[in-house]
Amino acid sequence: MTPSDDIDRSDATARAWSDEAIRLVEADANRSADTHLVRFELPPGWPIDLYFKDESTHPTGSLKHRLARSLFLYALANGWLTEGTTVIESSSGSTAISEAYFARMLNLPFIAVMPASTSTGKIALIEREGGRCHLVDDPTTVYDEARRLAADCGGHYLDQFTFAERATDWRGNNNIAESIFAQLSAERHPVPDWIVVGAGTGGTSATIGRYLRYRRLATRLCVVDVDNSAFLPGWLARDDRVRTGIGSRIEGIGRPRVEPSFVGDVVDRMIAVPDEASLAAMRLLSDRLGRRVGPSTGTNFVGALRVAAGLRARGAAASIVTLICDGGERYHDSYYADDWLAARGLDLAPQRAFLEGVLAGGEWR
Ligand SMILES: *Cc1c(COP(=O)(O)O)cnc(C)c1O
Repeated sequence: MTPSDDIDRSDATARAWSDEAIRLVEADANRSADTHLVRFELPPGWPIDLYFKDESTHPTGSLKHRLARSLFLYALANGWLTEGTTVIESSSGSTAISEAYFARMLNLPFIAVMPASTSTGKIALIEREGGRCHLVDDPTTVYDEARRLAADCGGHYLDQFTFAERATDWRGNNNIAESIFAQLSAERHPVPDWIVVGAGTGGTSATIGRYLRYRRLATRLCVVDVDNSAFLPGWLARDDRVRTGIGSRIEGIGRPRVEPSFVGDVVDRMIAVPDEASLAAMRLLSDRLGRRVGPSTGTNFVGALRVAAGLRARGAAASIVTLICDGGERYHDSYYADDWLAARGLDLAPQRAFLEGVLAGGEWR
């Protein structure tokens, strides 16, 4: 026997800190309500029911609240966070807002590494939660910069793009898919034909796609993708190494590389949505709902309408579910500002007219 045969590294103080941190995160979940499933009125004569799972009503305003909670619990359960650990993330903004909220709850310093193009509204929200923003000019460098910062300060890089798909329990535990199906249970068509979502980390589509298979549901999964994103070309080529090297103009979705959390094999269909269409749809939907939604919700709306028009053309009576990913308040000086659009050469009028035509005539043309 040598002294190295039996090593006890247990640390009661560290364990007590971790216990308390997990209790705080769970207590926050207990205080929170589920998000609404909102019905959207399609024109009379459409045999389709369209629903929006309204993720803007989470305490931090987007679907990233779910992800941030999962990433913190995953990191805590793995023993990766200890008292005082600096938490670092690469983010286009929404994730950082939600993570800053949980970091503050656990009294941990938080740094978000983000593209310089991130909305000023999002930066303000992160700073209000006590987080620091570290801006980089080239959006493709956020990952390396976050990893470097974490190494420099002995912090922990949460790495949403790698861990989103595994931090969330896809079998249930009130994940977004389980919640949607529970809320649909008394509807005319409780098993939707399609669920339509965008991909940022790819975590939401991975969770839903796995859940559909696990529960043996007939629902198919459609992912909408935006200009400059690697997801659709990578999925088409079945090649995860596809890179575009260009950042997306639709905050929250579309990535310059196929992110590790994007599980293409559970995606049944992908639809390319031009940025002008996403933004025209964002504004159209906001007008119809009487409140502002974010740009990725516009992308979802275009995809859902396209899927709905296809079902209608076949006379199929069905339901479709998509998401309100976040509200529009964060974007009043960007996507909702006409001069901001004009400065970028974005003219939404033709797409607006097209979408109004689809809603009036019921056909995708
Ligand atoms: C992250 C995000 C998405 C996409 O969700 P993922 O699960 O990361 O693929 C869509 N919209 C907004 C506003 C987001 O922040």
